[in-house]
Amino acid sequence: MTVGLFNLRMRLVDKEFRGGTDDETPDHIARDLSNAIAELERRNPSSWPKVAGIGLGLPGIVETDFEGRQTLYAESLGWPPVPVASLLDQGLPVRAENGAATQAKAEQWFGVARGSSTAVVAMLGRGVGLGVITNGELYCGASGSAAEWGHLSIDPQGPICRCGRRGCLEAFLGSQALLEEWKGRGGTLPSDERIAIRALFDTGDAGDSDANALIERATSLLGTALGGLVNLYNPQGVIVGGWVGTLFMERRRTEIESAMRVAALERPGSQTDLYVGSVGENSVTLGAAILPLEDLVCSRRPSNSIASAFVRRNLEGTPDRRTHGQGLGFAEPATR
Ligand SMILES: [Zn+2]
Repeated sequence: MTVGLFNLRMRLVDKEFRGGTDDETPDHIARDLSNAIAELERRNPSSWPKVAGIGLGLPGIVETDFEGRQTLYAESLGWPPVPVASLLDQGLPVRAENGAATQAKAEQWFGVARGSSTAVVAMLGRGVGLGVITNGELYCGASGSAAEWGHLSIDPQGPICRCGRRGCLEAFLGSQALLEEWKGRGGTLPSDERIAIRALFDTGDAGDSDANALIERATSLLGTALGGLVNLYNPQGVIVGGWVGTLFMERRRTEIESAMRVAALERPGSQTDLYVGSVGENSVTLGAAILPLEDLVCSRRPSNSIASAFVRRNLEGTPDRRTHGQGLGFAEPATR
């Protein structure tokens, strides 16, 4: 996980990394968070009393009950339902969202989705997720689980997904799925997941037909799945982020776009553009840090949309030098 300390201009002041393995339990995560926060506090003693709150980008569905209590449902990690409050005990306001949703928020506030009232922001990493921005707000469904695109089944006979079902998009496009598939074909790769995925692309680009076939299939699936999003949501922009997504866009953008345009109906397809996420590798963390900032401002304003606009004006224009608060953004998962 990446744990970042942000100032009110949402600039990253300091950060810590912890974990990054797939066998972590909620207790591990809680301990890592606690350690990372303690380290940031030790290094930033003068800022610490001004910390406004904590935002979390979590790997799963985050539900909020009528009392404001949040629960994480991380089926892909095999966890039981986890009360978000049990992950932290810092005496600060905490707000969590799904990690793909926080990435979408970061793109909406600071990246290529800025100014878009309707956009879809795909996140491809170890998992596959999506944030849907509609009318300027994140769409979350009846209770918070909307846009679980990674677990859209595209082949009932397909490989088993981390969620336990068969043929989910994530079971084809997540980093582990790609690497498992490559190993199944007899390929060898470095143990570091990020280096391994890049090596897979390099192997394909160097002319290995097996690696190329695997990447071509994934590219076609990704473009087709994005075309499906165009048909579903009629977005102004389709944004692909996450470390795997960014790599796909660096290496196969033209092919992804043509598959997307083939799959999308002509009218909505002609009304959208494909972009690579522009916020960078800390997008989930940055989006998480926006959450307490939103809460801070919303608590003094009558409506969310007015509050958000107020913050953005401040961030884009002259910063308000009377405010010195800090926001913490914690992002999980993060194989960095
Ligand atoms: Zn799944």
